Amino acid sequence: MGNKFIIYILTHYGIICHMEKKKIIIGNWKMNPSSSKEAEKLFSGVAKGFSGVKKTEIVFCPPFIYLESLYRLLKAKRYTLKASLGVQNVSLGDVGPYTGEVSAGMLYGVGAKYAILGHSERRAQGESNGDINKKIKFSLVAGLRPILCVGESVRDEQHGYFNLIKKQVEECLSGISKNSIYKIIIAYEPIWAISSTPDRRDATPDDCREMVIFIRKVLSDKFGKEASRARIIYGGSVNSKNAKDFLQNGGIDGLLVGNASLDVKKFTEIIKICETLNK
Ligand code: PEP
Repeated sequence: MGNKFIIYILTHYGIICHMEKKKIIIGNWKMNPSSSKEAEKLFSGVAKGFSGVKKTEIVFCPPFIYLESLYRLLKAKRYTLKASLGVQNVSLGDVGPYTGEVSAGMLYGVGAKYAILGHSERRAQGESNGDINKKIKFSLVAGLRPILCVGESVRDEQHGYFNLIKKQVEECLSGISKNSIYKIIIAYEPIWAISSTPDRRDATPDDCREMVIFIRKVLSDKFGKEASRARIIYGGSVNSKNAKDFLQNGGIDGLLVGNASLDVKKFTEIIKICETLNK
């Protein structure tokens, strides 16, 4: 029996679909740490806790410059079944005259599997839904799995933020085929809850669950039943104290962690919480 036949049977009976929805914990390192040595130390520190992890997918998204050395470490220590690497942006082009840019294909070539796209810190620099849509398409062609960030900066009393999220999801995923939707992760990140936002406030698992249900509806209107294969995760000041509540009550398939992913103890704790809840 060939591999293709086995994959067909597993997919047909929803087994691969289930595997795809494995809970995921993603660390967005942003522009940290300040040296390659420190990046390896941070990665290795978290990796010490990998042995007990079976049901959680772990992703590290470092700055581009650390990718190659971390990928070497990942392979040398045979961590590739436990964890993978992601990037925080890809170029709007493929190859050619894009000074200072790095393409999705190049990043895939040095070990990246995921790409955080449309993060609010990039949108704040002028990245539009149209740009993000192009980046998602380049990423998929290159073999990278997009982590599409969506989120409102304020919650207005008229609930206009639902329309904003709908527009972000629809425009960023315009022209994406139903067959690719299982590769896409949507990260709901309310900007008002992100740790670096001035005067931030806490989002609750209820805030999160309500939006996850809404995003699922937007996805299913657009992609039909295939939409259930996309993972939806939450990000915004997740730490070892609130992770359990979000994972248990937020209706999510995982977490996108910024600040706390730079702390070995805190990030390891979040991974362990996720693993324990999956048992
Ligand atoms: C982020 O900005 O993607 C993020 C989740 O940050 P933090 O966890 O620090 O709020």
